[in-house]
Formats: sequence, structure tokens, C-alpha cells
Amino acid sequence: MTDDLTISFSLAGEVAVVTGAAQGIGQATAVALAQQGADVACVDLDAAALAETVAACERHGRRAAAIACDVSDRGAVEAAARRVEAALGPPTLLACAAGISTENVPAEQVREEDLDRLFAVNVKGSLFWATAVSRSMIAQGRGAIVLIASQAALVSLPSQSAYTASKGAVTALTRSLAIDWARHGIRVNAVCPTFIWTPMAAPMLEIEAVHSAAVRRIPLGRVGRAAEVASVIAFLCSPAASLVTGVVMPVDGGWTAGEPELPL
Ligand code: NAP
Repeated sequence: MTDDLTISFSLAGEVAVVTGAAQGIGQATAVALAQQGADVACVDLDAAALAETVAACERHGRRAAAIACDVSDRGAVEAAARRVEAALGPPTLLACAAGISTENVPAEQVREEDLDRLFAVNVKGSLFWATAVSRSMIAQGRGAIVLIASQAALVSLPSQSAYTASKGAVTALTRSLAIDWARHGIRVNAVCPTFIWTPMAAPMLEIEAVHSAAVRRIPLGRVGRAAEVASVIAFLCSPAASLVTGVVMPVDGGWTAGEPELPL
């Protein structure tokens, strides 16, 4: 028996919100979603820093808006969600790429203020935006949300306990939201990138010893580019992923698949 499902990666007609869109993975995601046909609300701390992303989305023939918002401030997120709807219409897609890391220190030296800030931005920021857009998604009976966790949520690196804990919370949140909102036709997934060349990771990757150790540990033999994470996010947003929800997907060149260097 044949199935009449038409496979589509198109995002035409969708309205997307992308946080952390001024640079790095968020910027690449905003452009990828526009390339696939979505109008994109680009969110970051500073509206002026979003000009390049907005222009890149518009070059793909899509509408785009720059929305300044601190994702850790629930009132600001609610107000920003209203501005998105006024500018582009009710959102159907959300990608939460706004995130921070803090100084790498052994677990016994983690400062409470760093822990609080990591959870405020990485965890609460994702939850605040997801709940802010959920109302229009529930009203429309559909939506797709992608949270950005990290490979760190799956395998730990030294001196990153606080960041790792925040990303573990993002993966748990992904599954909870997926279960809560499946009945409304809203899919919620997460990606777990390995080291990606972005302004956040560059200071680590520019240390040759760190870069070469990471490359040795990645079976595909290189760190990633932001567009390679963005393309997976675009897939997870698309009708081609219509049966995928609650998934925490590594985008890691094989790092979490196993140990590439064992001399067997
Ligand atoms: P990035 O280059 O630092 O970009 C993050 C963007 O988010 C920046 O524009 C930043 O603005 C913005 N932002 C930070 N705090 C914010 C807040 N409170 N409200 C609104 N926007 C805020 O980082 P990235 O490497 O693209 O990382 C994106 C996400 O992927 C993060 O969650 C990160 O943890 C995760 N990730 C990254 C890697 C990697 O290797 N790059 C690997 C795994 C996971 P400012 O610059 O003004 O602070």
C-alpha cells in the first residue's frame, strides 16, 4: 500500500521566533528558517546587533523583525512576544539559541551567582519563550519548538558542572514540554551541538591544545559550523519531522557515539 504523505522541508507560511539571533547558532538558525520560507522575529539583547541577521533574512525574500529582549526577564519576554505578533503575526515556530556560558572552574569553585545566571538565561529563558509562544500555538493547534541544549548534557567536560547542569535541565524541559503540548499539535525537540565555531566557543577553540583535543575526540575529525546546527533545527521545525517530538538530538560529528582513538 502506498502512502500519500508528501515529504516537505518547506517552512513557507510559518512565523518563527529565534532568540540569540544576533550571532552564532541563533543567527545561522534565523537565516536557515528564512531560507526555508519562514518570516523570522530575531530576538537578542540589543536590537542594533540584529541588523545583519534581519538583512540576511530579508535577502531570502522573507519578512524579518528585530526584537530586543532579555530572555531571562519574563515580563520582557511577554512584551516581546506581543511585539512579534504585531509585527509578523502569531508565531508557529520557536528556536531558543540565546544562551551563555561562564568561566570554566572545578565544581568546588562554582559561584552561586554564575549558577543563577546560567539557569536564568539557559533554562528560564527557554521556558519563558516557550510558554509565551505556546498560547498562539495552542490556539492554532500546531507549532514546533527547538531548544538548544549541548553535547555537555550528554557527556561531561571538565570544569563545566554549572553549564552542564543548565543544559541537562534544558533536555529535561524539552521532554516535559513535548509531553504537555503534544495534545495541542506542538512538537518540542532539542539539539545538542558539539564545539561549534561561534563567538561563544571561539575563545576556547583558539587555544590550539583545546582545538586539537576536540578534533581528535570527534570521529568526523573537525568541529562544527553554526549552519550545520541550523540545518538540523530547520529540519526539526519542518513537516518532514512531523512525527518527531521529545527528542534530544546530538549534532556532534559522532562524539557521543563513542571513543574514536582506542588502538584496537
Ligand atoms: P553566542 O555566539 O554567544 O550567541 C549567543 C547570543 O545570545 C548572543 O548574541 C548573546 O548576546 C545572546 N544572549 C545572551 N544572553 C541573552 C539574554 N539574556 N537575552 C537575549 N539574548 C541573549 O553563542 P552560540 O555559540 O551561538 O550558542 C548558542 C546556544 O548554543 C547557547 O545556548 C550555547 O550554550 C549553545 N551551544 C553552543 C556550542 C558552541 O560550541 N558554540 C555548543 C553547544 C551548545 P550577547 O553577545 O550580547 O551576550
